[in-house]
Amino acid sequence: MAKVLTVGEILVEIVATTKGDGFREAQPLIGPFPSGAPAIFIDQVGKLGKPCAILGRVGDDDFGQLNLDRLRRDGVDVSGVEVAPGESTGSAFVRYREDGSRVFVFNIANAACGTLPATPHGRAVMDGCTHMHVMGTALSAPGLAARAMEAVEVVKQNGGTLSFDPNLRPEILNTPGLREALDRVLAQTDLFMPSGDEIFLFTEAQTEAEAVAELLERGVRDIVIKRGADGASHFDAGGRTDVAAIAVEELDPTGAGDCFGGAFVSFWLDGADPATALTHANAAGARAVTRLGPMEGTSTRAELAALLATTETG
Ligand code: ADP
Repeated sequence: MAKVLTVGEILVEIVATTKGDGFREAQPLIGPFPSGAPAIFIDQVGKLGKPCAILGRVGDDDFGQLNLDRLRRDGVDVSGVEVAPGESTGSAFVRYREDGSRVFVFNIANAACGTLPATPHGRAVMDGCTHMHVMGTALSAPGLAARAMEAVEVVKQNGGTLSFDPNLRPEILNTPGLREALDRVLAQTDLFMPSGDEIFLFTEAQTEAEAVAELLERGVRDIVIKRGADGASHFDAGGRTDVAAIAVEELDPTGAGDCFGGAFVSFWLDGADPATALTHANAAGARAVTRLGPMEGTSTRAELAALLATTETG
């Protein structure tokens, strides 16, 4: 059975519980919650029962332990997570503006997760995996990007498949070398999963249809566009499939795309048809937004089935 790998930041997140113009108004804060886009993605894969692993780095502290405990509990192989003595686990603070947009304060570059040295054990974990999932954020820290790129090369050379979620936050777009890394990853990508307009960062096309056609022509096999509360779409040589978002009460959108991605990749690797993979990923994204805390809304197969059952019967 395929074993899924991702590489990248493992963090804790502190969340403001009320909207406001600054953290002083957005009180009280709650957390710490396990977080980091690659960590949320792989936790979702683990919860669906697929063999999976993450390579990353946490501090030798309670925050690191919190993440390791959660990932292990949910079935993720964390033997490739380095625990760095004397360093702190990365963190993120998030608050919501009145219009629903988010403000993040990150402590990543100078925390344990900002680097990931090459080790023989890390290489062995890569060799044991047959699918690699790249998050754009993992390409924005030079010390992490080298390991993510190594994992891409190793898994592809071993005959595995590659999925890619650009997940590009505005503050990382000017990172030196990021553009080249994104293009190198896309050139080897089998399953591309951008959000909204992110697809236009990878093509000069003027319309979404043209952009999709160009990327399929360039060798991407499947494209999934995430559209937040407007659902999602899948494209391949066989055509287009759309799914409307499931009506839920959105409490916290952070992590929805990662849960959606983890579910889509899991069903795609199982050989599910596009509509089945899309429907389950859409349910995973919907469940994710109903929970406060980015990794709190990852789903089991039974939880997805239960939500889809109530959705279908109205
Ligand atoms: P990202 O965080 O990567 O930008 P999105 O915000 O597009 O990802 O969310 C991913 C998916 O989660 C969406 O395509 C949709 O299926 C689901 N989703 C997101 N927000 C909602 C919502 N408010 N209600 C229902 N489903 C949602």
